[in-house]
Amino acid sequence: HVDKFEKAFSKFIGVKNCIATNSGTDSLILALKALSLKKGDEVITVCNSFYATAGAIVVCGAKPVFVDCDERYQIDINKIERAITKKTKIILPVHWGGASPNMHKIMSIAKKHSLKVVEDACMGIGAKIKNKSPGSFGHVNAFSMHPLKSLNVMGDGGMVVTNNDKIASWLRRYRNHGMIDRDHIFDWGVNMRLQPFQAIVANIELKKVNKIISKRNRNAKILDQSLSKIKYIQIPERKKIYRETFALYMARFKKRDKLKSYLIRNGIEVKIHYPIPLHLQRPSKKMGYRKGDFPIAEKQATEMLTLPVHQYLNREQINFMIKKIKNFYQ
Ligand SMILES: *Cc1c(COP(=O)(O)O)cnc(C)c1O
Repeated sequence: HVDKFEKAFSKFIGVKNCIATNSGTDSLILALKALSLKKGDEVITVCNSFYATAGAIVVCGAKPVFVDCDERYQIDINKIERAITKKTKIILPVHWGGASPNMHKIMSIAKKHSLKVVEDACMGIGAKIKNKSPGSFGHVNAFSMHPLKSLNVMGDGGMVVTNNDKIASWLRRYRNHGMIDRDHIFDWGVNMRLQPFQAIVANIELKKVNKIISKRNRNAKILDQSLSKIKYIQIPERKKIYRETFALYMARFKKRDKLKSYLIRNGIEVKIHYPIPLHLQRPSKKMGYRKGDFPIAEKQATEMLTLPVHQYLNREQINFMIKKIKNFYQ
């Protein structure tokens, strides 16, 4: 079942080698290790992401070097080159919320400076940049199948992908204790395998993912159209070349905290992704990061709100949500 899912996923994403793992986090760790990331190295990534993006870098002994995000909540491609030092090995862009940064530009920056790229495409299964999938640009890339993602299994699951055959065979061995066969190991490894049961679920879900994303896009469009008319709300720019998964429907709202409690009181489950950016979390302070380092992300952290956009919402529920938001601002 795992083998079957890996092959189907490879066709869906358009990357030659897909290796199923037990989470998006482990996929990131595997990707970084496969590119020989080690102690003292630096990895450039964005300061508004989930903890795992930076955690995977630190687990490998390397240092996350954060850069600010842009008005689409993606890594600011104009700030990447400034963060490059002699120790930089990898650029790790994130497809945050299921939208994408400019991957073509990131790949050309990496090429110019002889760096590798690992995409955190954990929220990006089913998204598109022109006609290519997130996770098909970088050298080794990670996806998640956690219950909150567009293709989800019944628990944890992930995928690490690469077009490089040599790296792929290392990943396959390392994922399974470094084993060549039952009695021999090639090197020390780990158990980061996907359970066959989860692969059965994933094979079924893969067939539905396009439909799920279409529904989320339809819901997002209704929200965009109504909310963009309210002057206290700022919707990010939607560029034609990107098909987003809307893993998260995020926008910026004036009086965010009051709006959040008001909506929750009215039975609408809203969340903040995230109130504290990575560089202001406790372990980042020891690395020398301070408030004020990344003003765009810090400002967004005070204004962002994530609204329900999922595929099971009906029109009536979406209208109710819009009505409540309008009521709040009136
Ligand atoms: C979900 C997510 C992860 C972690 O994936 P898990 O499968 O939960 O380990 C990492 N990065 C981003 C951007 C994510 O959204």
